[in-house]
Amino acid sequence: MPDIVSVLAATCREHLLTEKILIAPSLAIGHQLADAVAQSGTSWVNLRVETMRTLTDAVAGFSLAQEGCTVLSRAQALAIVERSCDRALDSSSYFAALAGRPGLHRAIQRSLDDLRHAGVEPAALPHAAFEDPRKAEDLTRILAVYEAELKERRFVDRYGVLARATALLRSGAAAPWLADAIWLFIDGVELTGAEESFLGQLTRNRVTLGGHAATRPGRIDFRRAAGEENELRGAFRDLLASGIRFDEAELVYTTTDPYLPLAYELAAGYEIPCTFAEGVPASFTRPGQAGVAFLAWLGGGWHAAELQRAAVGGSLSVKGLPGSVFARVLRSAAIGWGRDRYGKRLDTLRADRAKSHELEEDEGRRESLAKSLEQIALTHEAIEALLGLTSAVAEGEEIDAAVAARAAAGFVTRFAAVRNELDVMAREALIRVFSELAVLPPTAIPRGEAAARLMETVRRVHVSASNPRPGFLHVAPLRLAGWSGRRRTFVAGLDESRHPGAGLQDPIVLDAERAAINRSIEPGQLVMLGEAPVRAGLRFRQFLSRASASELTLSWNGVDLRARTERFPSSQLLTVYRQAIGRADATYAEMSSAVVTDGFVDPSPLSQSEWWLMRRFAGAGTDLSPALLEAYPGLAEGARADAAHEADAITAWDGLVSPRGSELDPRLNGRIYSASQLETMARCPYRYFVERVLHVKAIEEIEFDPDRWLEAREFGSMLHEVLETSMAELCSAGRKPVLEFLPRMEAIATDALQRWREDVPPPSEAAFESRRDELLASCEIFLRREEEACRTVTPRYFEVSFGFGEDGPDTIAMPEPLSIPLGGGREVLLRGRIDRVDYDEASGQWSVWDYKSGGTWEYDKGGHLQRGTKVQHAIYARALRAMLDRKGERGAVASSGYFFPTPKGRGARIVPRAPGDGVEEGVNAPLERVLNALFDVVGSGLFPHASMPNPCAFCDFQAVCGGSDLAGSRMQRKLDANASDAGVAAWRRLQEVK
Ligand code: SF4
Repeated sequence: MPDIVSVLAATCREHLLTEKILIAPSLAIGHQLADAVAQSGTSWVNLRVETMRTLTDAVAGFSLAQEGCTVLSRAQALAIVERSCDRALDSSSYFAALAGRPGLHRAIQRSLDDLRHAGVEPAALPHAAFEDPRKAEDLTRILAVYEAELKERRFVDRYGVLARATALLRSGAAAPWLADAIWLFIDGVELTGAEESFLGQLTRNRVTLGGHAATRPGRIDFRRAAGEENELRGAFRDLLASGIRFDEAELVYTTTDPYLPLAYELAAGYEIPCTFAEGVPASFTRPGQAGVAFLAWLGGGWHAAELQRAAVGGSLSVKGLPGSVFARVLRSAAIGWGRDRYGKRLDTLRADRAKSHELEEDEGRRESLAKSLEQIALTHEAIEALLGLTSAVAEGEEIDAAVAARAAAGFVTRFAAVRNELDVMAREALIRVFSELAVLPPTAIPRGEAAARLMETVRRVHVSASNPRPGFLHVAPLRLAGWSGRRRTFVAGLDESRHPGAGLQDPIVLDAERAAINRSIEPGQLVMLGEAPVRAGLRFRQFLSRASASELTLSWNGVDLRARTERFPSSQLLTVYRQAIGRADATYAEMSSAVVTDGFVDPSPLSQSEWWLMRRFAGAGTDLSPALLEAYPGLAEGARADAAHEADAITAWDGLVSPRGSELDPRLNGRIYSASQLETMARCPYRYFVERVLHVKAIEEIEFDPDRWLEAREFGSMLHEVLETSMAELCSAGRKPVLEFLPRMEAIATDALQRWREDVPPPSEAAFESRRDELLASCEIFLRREEEACRTVTPRYFEVSFGFGEDGPDTIAMPEPLSIPLGGGREVLLRGRIDRVDYDEASGQWSVWDYKSGGTWEYDKGGHLQRGTKVQHAIYARALRAMLDRKGERGAVASSGYFFPTPKGRGARIVPRAPGDGVEEGVNAPLERVLNALFDVVGSGLFPHASMPNPCAFCDFQAVCGGSDLAGSRMQRKLDANASDAGVAAWRRLQEVK
């Protein structure tokens, strides 16, 4: 650094008024050097800072403008490469097999750039240099199409500007600098062949700024860390402990990932002001995240979940609505996916809420419903705007990438949340890049690919790149670092895997092919990518030289935390270490043990969590628990729950409710229950407690499973609809079910399928067809089995209810609930809906059937009431008896069972029977016994966990109870320890019921 600055300063002093042009790797670096000259006390009058880009623009800009040419940005040029690949390649092409690979087009763009900068024309590409001649053919074709497209549309990419500028200088065209200008070149800056040719025209008055002679910084120390995050934390701590100002230090990293994101996040967390030489990825900002969510929405089938996530995460902003409310309205509308569902589902939701509002008498509830209607209206408005923005890419498997980019620009403009300066910059940058892509020629590509390409563009956008500024710590990658002349420099990422890196080959043009091409052209200028480590090593040496006046800390990550393996320092770091300690034989092990190690615990914590960690691990013997639990009430609650779970006593955390009794016992609380509620209660009382007593509801989301349409429960409802409609139609015509009815039943099924399709969008046609086939097969199974069964019986009643207030002359429905006396003047009240009642004219007996759409596995194990988990048939038999009595109908209820008319159920009929008992005579006693045992359990305030794992498979509360294994074993231990408790004894009695 002093060498460069001092030569530069000397040149400025010597040629005070002469025009001096400094060619810097970037304007930022050039200005840092000029500032350093000024700080050294030298005036830099008439010193211009230029880069290759600004110089070539200055030379060729006017001529290109005169011809009406547009200079493409890198993103635009990439889009033209993508378009050229789409047009030049077909299924027989070498690269066709790689077409879907992420990054392929970017790799091709890089290879084409390398070839063109090396002076290789498409037609002159030596095919013999390639291992597969088809590869050369592909590249030739792509490059030819690319160049033709540029020419046809008067587009010029960066290489084109450079080539034009070189040609103009060669032809003696007037240049925008004085003839006696002094050219200042920085030694060691990497240039391509084409750039060398351009600069080769500037032969007069050249001064080279060296500066790489010194290799040893003034003061140097070394650190290792357990993980990259601790590596950066160590640098921040060291900086704060040293007492120097932020703007006297620079933090340098070898690889952008993971160091740049980590530096950004840690600096934000510690509130250390930073400038970032390569900016911050836009995807860290709200507009970037919103843009990615929008593209996922557009490219993936319009899934509402994408918008919901972005809104809840705070990146999507809807006028007049908090993001969480917008997300909640979309979730309540059960949209799922598909553009055409948004309007319909929101209308349905609005109509439902409006009706509830109309009927609601409670003033508070009315107000809340009115508010909800406003929120639905605002959500609808936002959705209409979103759908309007995307109307041009609404249909089709293929969409125009340029039109999608225009929609994305519109989205970011209107919907991206902006909360700080960085968000503002990201929003503007994204609008600019999307707008640039929107003006490119139309390119129809698969929807998902168009979205993926645009997402990749978002990820590539960096914002807020900055020079070092007063008051800010400067954070820079190695190639842009060391120019600021700051007092203190930290370098992170010097482990062997990151520095000097692996030197991966170019996947498009291999190094062997590059070497062969170089041999065939004069002079050979294609760079070897396998030599990247050598170049990285050189860059590091140059950096050390630039930073030689700085106090330097070099660090490496010594532990791969994921793989739990050691990482070694790079060989170059070891070399510097050996020089620093003056021992050429120092080993890795010596170095590792001699240097400071940054771990998770440090005596100088930077945040609250680090402070607690330090107290916990550094203050041996100190019990921090009381202080910690006092500081974090949530943790204190958790600790109390853990202790209660571990204890033998049954407590509130196991589902023990106090006060016990009248509120919880169905025999005493006067509430009306359904058979399925009682079955859930018996399967897992704890689940019943969470769901029905605490009223905890799992968030309902329509899940996207490309292979499945409709949950089992939904399919069951659809099947019930079809069976009910079919049987009602048959009965009203005085007919019995026969196979001849199948075409009509299939038509009924098709109608039902359409209706359900409106409510629940199929994820794919294949998934829809699979369910349709299942439903149609069920129709056939049903009719075949019914034709046979109905030879001796007549289906008489369908969907008859009890306890729902329904009544009438043509139905046996019972408006009042069924009461089952349970002794001691107590009763349980029940309601339900019986699928089907058959009558056998010959015997005068009745049968009850409940349709089941699943398999028989829970029903065909034998047993009658199965620990209270199967009581529906017994309750329905009682209900039918009561209904018939109420209507004065005669005849015994001979059976009550389940009919499985689906492929899974294979048309089975199962009638559970109590041993030795018929339905009417035998049910009473066992049913009473089982209900009393169950109500003794919950009435005692005990809600144990499931004793069998089966009920857990479809339970939403596994996260609450810890899952069947943990909850089950814990409960078993507690039951054993409290065997004399009345509730425990009742639960054990219940488990013995077959
Ligand atoms: S996961 Fe199993 S044990 Fe836990 S609440 Fe659900 S059913 Fe009960």
